[in-house]
Amino acid sequence: MIKVFKFGGASVKNAEAVRNLSQILKQFSDTSLVIVVSAMGKTTNALEKLLEAVREKASDFEVQFYQIKDFHVQIIDELFAESSESVKRELETYFISLRKHFTEAELNCSIDKLYDQTVSYGELISSFIVFEWLKFQQFKLRLIDAREFIMTDQNYRSANILWDETSKRTETLKADFTIPQIMLTQGFIGSAPDHSTTTLGREGSDFTAAIFAYCLNAEEVIIWKDVPGLLNADPKRFANTVKLNGISYSEAIELAYYGATIIHPKTIKPLQNKGIPLKIKSFLEPELLPSVISENNSFDSSVPSYIIKDNQLLLSLSPRDFSFMDEGCLHTIFGLLNDWHIHVNLLQTSALSLSICVDSKTGLSEKMLELFGNDFIVKYNQGLTLLTIRHYQKAPVESFTHGKTILLEQRSRTTLQFVYAEDSKPQKQ
Ligand code: ASP
Ligand code: MG
Repeated sequence: MIKVFKFGGASVKNAEAVRNLSQILKQFSDTSLVIVVSAMGKTTNALEKLLEAVREKASDFEVQFYQIKDFHVQIIDELFAESSESVKRELETYFISLRKHFTEAELNCSIDKLYDQTVSYGELISSFIVFEWLKFQQFKLRLIDAREFIMTDQNYRSANILWDETSKRTETLKADFTIPQIMLTQGFIGSAPDHSTTTLGREGSDFTAAIFAYCLNAEEVIIWKDVPGLLNADPKRFANTVKLNGISYSEAIELAYYGATIIHPKTIKPLQNKGIPLKIKSFLEPELLPSVISENNSFDSSVPSYIIKDNQLLLSLSPRDFSFMDEGCLHTIFGLLNDWHIHVNLLQTSALSLSICVDSKTGLSEKMLELFGNDFIVKYNQGLTLLTIRHYQKAPVESFTHGKTILLEQRSRTTLQFVYAEDSKPQKQ
């Protein structure tokens, strides 16, 4: 059986982390592995900025370019010491080819397409360095280009998987596994029918791992993280977080839906479809038991989970002519929201009004307020926080809402949500 491992940016952020990765792999020497790696550290963000600099013809383009390059050179120097020359020479070819995308002709193509051609270098370079390191450490492995297997449409920046073609290609890999063996590949990237590179959306490497697992009927997926597993809240925002030892696929999807950033939301479906468990393990303390996401739902409600979304806009719309907020009205409003790709985080209706809570996006939010203003009386509050508590029955709810101005509250059997302002701000209209 094959296991699929995903190592995210933090697990390959420097030479020490890459060394740690190979230490972990030594414990799986009798297993066939597909290893999916992300860009090193914050490289994807740096490449996004570099692209902005190119487009704005910013004077610090060269500085940024060399910062990205030097970051990788340093990792190579530290890993390979006196044997680093040949690795660095090959690294150079990636940077030469990255630069080629910034010619006038390329800059004239769609920004989303250019984005994918650019940021994909993070994963390409990362997988190349990890490959060289593992080879150097005597691992038996192959570096495969994810773009020969993950086939997508041309919806750049958030490409959709062409499952039939992807399955057909990925299945051919099965025959190539001589057990035990490692196939190393890139997360996040795929290829469109015109052979251009596509990406699956930020943090998409988890999804890549799930796609390979699905197509290869893997035994399990392990996502290696810098936390001891799935936590019931973001430790940066909450004290005393608790590890969730196990939750069901549907609970994981619910948590991701409400804004938990545990795993890329698309990851679960392919795994659920084939009953493949997803484990979250600490690469810092690999001896700890993982959190497991599987069919088993017996632990779902044992620990409450807390999810915070900042920068929320709460809108309340009432028809100007005093008519009801009926199905026709809702249909019009949601049609517009759908056209503008605005996701509603929370909604509540009354006879004469609809309240919706959405992520505040500069530009788009103003445009939306203006257009809705034609037919509706619009009231809104900005800079709010949405707190979602799953399995709130066991949660000390008051301690979270104390001293805050609650603008909206909603409760279902499993979920409690509040929209609040830290201090009361007057409603604008
Ligand atoms: N490197 C990509 C990102 O930072 C994909 C990933 O890490 O999953 O979004
Ligand atoms: Mg990442």
